[in-house]
Amino acid sequence: MIKENIKTIKNNLPIGVKLVAVSKTKPIADLRQAYEAGQRVFGENRVQELCQKYETLPKDIQWHMIGHLQRNKVKYIAPFVHLIHTVDSLKLLEEIEKQAKKNNRIISVLLQIKIAQESTKSGLTLQELKEILHSEIFKKMKNISVEGLMGMATLTKNTQQIRSEFKSLKNIFEKFKNEQPHFKRISMGMSTDYPIAVEEGSTLIRVGTAIFGTRNKYT
Ligand SMILES: *Cc1c(COP(=O)(O)O)cnc(C)c1O
Repeated sequence: MIKENIKTIKNNLPIGVKLVAVSKTKPIADLRQAYEAGQRVFGENRVQELCQKYETLPKDIQWHMIGHLQRNKVKYIAPFVHLIHTVDSLKLLEEIEKQAKKNNRIISVLLQIKIAQESTKSGLTLQELKEILHSEIFKKMKNISVEGLMGMATLTKNTQQIRSEFKSLKNIFEKFKNEQPHFKRISMGMSTDYPIAVEEGSTLIRVGTAIFGTRNKYT
């Protein structure tokens, strides 16, 4: 089923939209099936699980961090992480910059924007985003590439609301695209709402359940 699910999702994606297979809580055997179907981009939301899966699976996989990231854990993923979707403060950026330098790498990140009305979803406001991108500290960073923005829509059946939240992320992206040299990605859309996200300009969808089935514990 995993292989078929991946093929079905990929066949219906426009060129330029990438699939992140969200494999959190799923066993290695499931990730291998996805790998055999050609999937090379995986997303995890916990540092320890991300590191264990990285150690176990083939090295041509690109590992994305899609969960809230604590500063004291950046060092564990800095040697190999391909993209961090969830940067929500200047302090976290500074730590990533520091660890990237130590590893002699440039680490790609997205800044997470709060687009949902739900208070449970985290992220930066437009004003906070502006303050970070225009700060002298940020401008001096050499080992970070800010490639765009990430957002999560409200968990609701109201598709008009979801669509308008995705539109707001796209609008913010457009505001900064010309001044930010590496801006090229918009990470939005999950199992239930990715078709809307793609229509609204997503370049990176993060899909778990629709590939691997439901998770036991919701994280
Ligand atoms: C779990 C998770 C997903 C995937 O959710 P599904 O509904 O299973 O597709 C996407 N993005 C983030 C940030 C997640 O934590």
